[in-house]
Amino acid sequence: MDDKSWAARAREYSMYGFTDMPSVEDRGTIVLTRGEGPYVFDTQGRKWLDSNSGLWNMVAGFDHPGLIEAAKAQYDRFPGYHAFFGRMSDQTVMLSEKLVEVSPFRRGKVFYTNSGSEANDTMVKMLWFLHRSEGKPQRRKILTRWNAYHGVTAISASMTGKPYNEVFGLPLDGFIHLTCPHFWRYGNPGESEAEFVARLARELEDTIQREGADTIAGFFAEPVQGAGGVIPPAKGYFQAIQPILKKHGIPFIADEVITGFGRTGNTWGCQTYDFVPDAIISSKNLTAGFFPMGAVILGPELSDRLDAAITPIEEFPHGFTASGHPVGCAIALKAIDVVMNEGLAQNVIDKAPRMEAGLRDIMQRHANIGELRGVGYMWALEAVKDPETRQPFPGHLSVSERIANTCTDLGLICRPLGQSIVLCPPFILTDAQMDEMFEKLDAALTRVFDGLR
Ligand code: PLP
Repeated sequence: MDDKSWAARAREYSMYGFTDMPSVEDRGTIVLTRGEGPYVFDTQGRKWLDSNSGLWNMVAGFDHPGLIEAAKAQYDRFPGYHAFFGRMSDQTVMLSEKLVEVSPFRRGKVFYTNSGSEANDTMVKMLWFLHRSEGKPQRRKILTRWNAYHGVTAISASMTGKPYNEVFGLPLDGFIHLTCPHFWRYGNPGESEAEFVARLARELEDTIQREGADTIAGFFAEPVQGAGGVIPPAKGYFQAIQPILKKHGIPFIADEVITGFGRTGNTWGCQTYDFVPDAIISSKNLTAGFFPMGAVILGPELSDRLDAAITPIEEFPHGFTASGHPVGCAIALKAIDVVMNEGLAQNVIDKAPRMEAGLRDIMQRHANIGELRGVGYMWALEAVKDPETRQPFPGHLSVSERIANTCTDLGLICRPLGQSIVLCPPFILTDAQMDEMFEKLDAALTRVFDGLR
């Protein structure tokens, strides 16, 4: 089967998600067959360095032998079971223990899903259930931020702060989006970063006053907004908003689907930004991308309150067929060990300064890069038409898509997000591979920006 027919077969029978279809018509579909370390290969044997770790998740690369072995061994032992009716696999029991142990909570409980979207969805249902059972059924509104990405189910898409969800008639009522804490883009002229943070804190307080604290079920935030374009919070943001949430009794949920397990240099993004939420949403790195799995990790207060809420009705009527799947749990146990004990998380800590320096170097060579932002192994370079005014390029020029396409032509996968290019490589990247990433990105930027002059 030659590649043309692979691409044609893909186009004819598969519906694509989050894909610019004119670009598929133009450039075809890349049909991938295998991976090696941080590289992926297609049906024609073409090779790319995937600087996006798949979708942030393949942190141990595409062929980690320990993870493959853990999956095979568990398929041999017990290839599948559910977690309903008072049953669950031994792997599920062990993973829950492990997740509570490595969480910032020390005590708590875990509920499993198949994805990050479902984990956010599950958390919202838990909050709605909890508030109803505590005699406050009106506590249903959810606070999130613009530019947030929390997933694609009806609830998690409603939490997501992206205009594209309008095509579905979303968000649902009662999902309120606050200002994105990106000082460089949303700070007012003359406003200091501290004043910007104070303004966002006031906005939160005013919103709670306007809506009524007793109508709000919870607040969700990614420690670093990922799919919004890698947006670390303005300095002191979480320290300014958490006391307001606490004062009003509003649970604070950290969506750590991207930031969990090492991406920001600590096990959790909330540790990097020095706050302890009431619950954590995990997925992606949880299994190093080797199995679809998500988890809600409840801190002690929420887990005690939920236990108390379940007692009178005798069961929590929620769960997925594959919640706590034994193979997923076995892989997650191994992935946590690999990331935390085989030096992968340490790589992020040790090499993040090298990554930042390399990207800063690139930024300095290209006047049309307006901002470099990020932390650990998640970074974005934002293209601007005018670096002085920060005016973006006109949308019709599709600048970030052009850069990403040129990178693809040069053997590097990276992701356009808005006017930014995102780089979030696997934690196994060697120095030589990191340099390859810099060289290819630099060449692509030169080609695209020269072409626009
Ligand atoms: N939350 C965050 C922060 C994410 O980045 C994502 C996916 O990128 C999700 C939730 C949704 O996860 P999934 O795609 O597994 O449903």
